[in-house]
Amino acid sequence: MPDSPEVVFDFAAIDFDTPGKRHYQLAFHLDSSWGYSLVPTTVIRGATSGGTGVAVIGGTHGNEYEGQIAVKRLCQSIEPDELRGLVILIPQLSESACRAGTRISPVDGVNMNRAFPGNARGSLSYRIANFLKTSVFPRVRVVIDIHSGGREAVFPLCTSFHRLPDAAQFAEIARAARLFDTPFLFVYSRQMSSGLLTDEAEDEGKIAIGGEFGAGEGVSAEGVRHAYEGSLNVMRHYGLLPSPVRPIAYPQHRQRLIQAADLADYRPCPRDGIWEPLAAPGDDVAKDQLLGYVHDFSDHSAPPLEIRAHRAGVLIARYSAAVCPRALTLFVIGEETGFPE
Ligand SMILES: [Zn+2]
Repeated sequence: MPDSPEVVFDFAAIDFDTPGKRHYQLAFHLDSSWGYSLVPTTVIRGATSGGTGVAVIGGTHGNEYEGQIAVKRLCQSIEPDELRGLVILIPQLSESACRAGTRISPVDGVNMNRAFPGNARGSLSYRIANFLKTSVFPRVRVVIDIHSGGREAVFPLCTSFHRLPDAAQFAEIARAARLFDTPFLFVYSRQMSSGLLTDEAEDEGKIAIGGEFGAGEGVSAEGVRHAYEGSLNVMRHYGLLPSPVRPIAYPQHRQRLIQAADLADYRPCPRDGIWEPLAAPGDDVAKDQLLGYVHDFSDHSAPPLEIRAHRAGVLIARYSAAVCPRALTLFVIGEETGFPE
């Protein structure tokens, strides 16, 4: 059995280089009280020299659990004597949000996935982002950030990434993302938000892969399996692990690359109401197809508002919760496109 995690106060003391497996808790001081967010981090340096680096991160959002579980499992299962290269595992990046079971950190009110590139003198989430950028990213070629939609959105099981100006980087990301064996790969708009973990990794030329492996603040065993086995497949693909890439999905399916590059395909809810969705994530939809109703209970005699598809395509995301505020993204329709060469 490995020793229990070592609490590290000076991050220069993290040993990324000696062959072996080390479990740490990185002590980031709190902003307004004496104490710490202890961010769990496992460093596994292979016994064989050379090889590339892979970082796998869960719990960037605290109420998304598949990544937390999958990365924790990787911390236990990967052994340095079978590894060539470096694996850095962080199962609960926004540890304070994970402990609270919330999307954003209750310590500083910051969404960890909007805090990049971070700030060494900023609040907790910005300091954690800065640590990732300055201490983890320079040591790895591949960055995997595992999400689950939280309360807001439900996606079909998918990996996700952005369209990038560098065609070779985009094609390599698409190839690596396919190794998670999800039925969908979602190419989403960078305009929808900024400061994402994967934005920063992409800008540094990394093979940056996100994904949505569950929804609704539950735990999908299928999502955990794809996140865990997919991360291992990426390590196999890049030569960190000796075994061949394995299929994950059963039954097997055709993978579909769905692109929603235009903000016009991210449709805002027209009014406050109760959302009754009629189409499922991953459905092919026709233009003007009824996707659901928004109910207004201020006048129970009025008919519900019909929500229809603004275009034909694949319903790649839709709002998850019943109570939907005006202007939140109610659904996203993307179009199927070919895989890059
Ligand atoms: Zn998320």
